[in-house]
Amino acid sequence: MTQPRPVSYTVKISSRAKSARLKMTPHDGLVVVLPDGYNKKHLPALLLRYDAWIKKAAERIEEHRPAPLPITDNGLPYTIEFLHIDEKWSVEYNNKGRRVIDIEDDNGKKLLLSADVDEAELGRRQLLAWLKLQAQKHLIPSFQKLAEAHDFKYAEALVRLQHSRWGSCSSRRLITLNTKLLFLPDYLVHYIMIHELCHTVHMNHSKAFWALVSRHDPLWRTNNAEMRSAWKYVPAWVST
Ligand SMILES: [Zn+2]
Repeated sequence: MTQPRPVSYTVKISSRAKSARLKMTPHDGLVVVLPDGYNKKHLPALLLRYDAWIKKAAERIEEHRPAPLPITDNGLPYTIEFLHIDEKWSVEYNNKGRRVIDIEDDNGKKLLLSADVDEAELGRRQLLAWLKLQAQKHLIPSFQKLAEAHDFKYAEALVRLQHSRWGSCSSRRLITLNTKLLFLPDYLVHYIMIHELCHTVHMNHSKAFWALVSRHDPLWRTNNAEMRSAWKYVPAWVST
């Protein structure tokens, strides 16, 4: 018989929950959602009952968590990896301490930041500007191709570094894609692009909308669910 493992978890009380349920996310770990008025003395039995599920969910998250990339003491990256286009960049800081920073784009492999490594905020801003250029260079053409291949019409597509939205489509069919998509695996980027393209036909999340999405991405349901934890692909220096 195996020893019961100590489990750390957080409890959330939800007035909308009909019954107790568990969820596990890379960000929050194990969360126990309880309906209003749930008697907490049942909690240990509940956790025991779901022990196998908890173990499996934790393993699955570990498997999928990308290994953290090395960073400088003040959080700037030595490596930038774009899953979407399978590109890896190394970043060098030459510590000249100038206020002007050059980014030398050595043919897709190396970035040279002529920045003092201690000037974190300046270096970070410079990297973000470079990131936006990369997003324009890669995301916009692949979006355009996808639209043409499936005969979707839109007014304009642009990239923006957004905090929480991965993409949007305005009533005038102006598409905005989040720069952070560069860090996501290709199938999730594809899902987001299809999602926004389908909004050019249905400006809502109606049944007809999801039916159209499923025609272009049969795995949309799984992908849509996975988007909730897709932030894990985005390095901290981009998010903060
Ligand atoms: Zn939507």
